[in-house]
Amino acid sequence: MEKILVLLSTEQNGELGKHARETIGAAKSLSHEFVLGVVGDLSEKAMKDLSQAGADHMLIVAGGDFNMSRYASDAYAGEQIVRASGAVLVLAPANSRWSRALPGICHRLEGRMDPQVTALSQKDGAIYVTRWFYRQRIEAVLTRKCRPWFITISAGSFPVWEGKGSEVKTSVERLNLTLPDTMKKSNVLSIKEPPTNQQTIKPDSPLLFVAGAGWTKKQADGAVHQEEAEKLIFGFLDASKASLGGTKSVVDLAGEGQKSLSLMSHLHQVGQTGSTPRHKKGIATCCHGEEPHVVGWRFINERRAINLDPNCSWAHGKTDVLYVADAFQLVKKVNELLSR
Ligand SMILES: Cc1cc2nc3c(=O)[nH]c(=O)nc-3n(C[C@H](O)[C@H](O)[C@H](O)COP(=O)(O)OP(=O)(O)OC[C@H]3O[C@@H](n4cnc5c(N)ncnc54)[C@H](O)[C@@H]3O)c2cc1C
Repeated sequence: MEKILVLLSTEQNGELGKHARETIGAAKSLSHEFVLGVVGDLSEKAMKDLSQAGADHMLIVAGGDFNMSRYASDAYAGEQIVRASGAVLVLAPANSRWSRALPGICHRLEGRMDPQVTALSQKDGAIYVTRWFYRQRIEAVLTRKCRPWFITISAGSFPVWEGKGSEVKTSVERLNLTLPDTMKKSNVLSIKEPPTNQQTIKPDSPLLFVAGAGWTKKQADGAVHQEEAEKLIFGFLDASKASLGGTKSVVDLAGEGQKSLSLMSHLHQVGQTGSTPRHKKGIATCCHGEEPHVVGWRFINERRAINLDPNCSWAHGKTDVLYVADAFQLVKKVNELLSR
């Protein structure tokens, strides 16, 4: 049986996030023994919860230098935890922190890595991972002989481990590391984030609302209705709590210095050169539905689109329902219904 390490980091409040708990869920699905490694100050409550996860042992690196997300300190802490654990297989969430640091740790330990794994399985004693290649076009199931093997777990792919505890049962070992000055060149001074009502990318929302370039184009009266478009889109997002996505055309407009929707950034782009979000449902508005965009809808099985053009690309078998209608009028009406 191979020794597995589940490598996690704490949220700013010392708790474990949903993605970290999904990674524990992934480890538990393998029914192998595992060790937990945590970077960051764990709250007392999180420590008690974690000790119910069924791990043999817990290794913690915490303290001022290690609480912030920084490549040098995360890679150093992670490397020391992997070495101390003696694990040959390392599972970590594919979040910004470990997606950045784990490749470095893997290189230092001369291992191999598979990022964004969506499923784990076992056959004849070997562990297999499922991951996507070529921008989510090819799904592969593979195994590796090389050890150590580093795997990051894609968000939303495993059940959230919901364990709660009232006492610390697992043996806990704190690694007292001193971070060399050469690794302190970057410092996190503060975290700036948009207010929650402007936080428009919501991976956990059941609904994706895509706004296309049509919102910024001349309408039937020969004029552009930018302000109205923003009001309608924000109104819908507020009422439905949907996550906002955009097409390449709409997000590029802002980059090219042209008038675009102020709520759009390149982070919103869905598609071949954008993201492939996982929402239960999606609605595309003022978006033509060209293949490089729709490829980003791979995991969205319930689809609707609103377009003036009955022959737009969505009409060619890419959506369940196409409303051939003016999105300005339709979204206005939907917002009225939602606000009742
Ligand atoms: C290599 C490559 C990679 C690409 N990667 C991506 C990618 O990752 N993501 C992506 O999105 N695109 C990508 N593209 C671009 C893609 O092919 C399309 O050009 C883009 O998706 C078009 O965006 P759009 O539908 O918003 O704009 P348009 O094609 O301009 O369509 C606007 C639509 O709005 C409709 N419309 C206008 N007014 C209204 C109204 N009042 N009510 C209802 N409908 C209305 C129009 O009928 C039209 O269909 C890529 C292209 C290439 C070549």
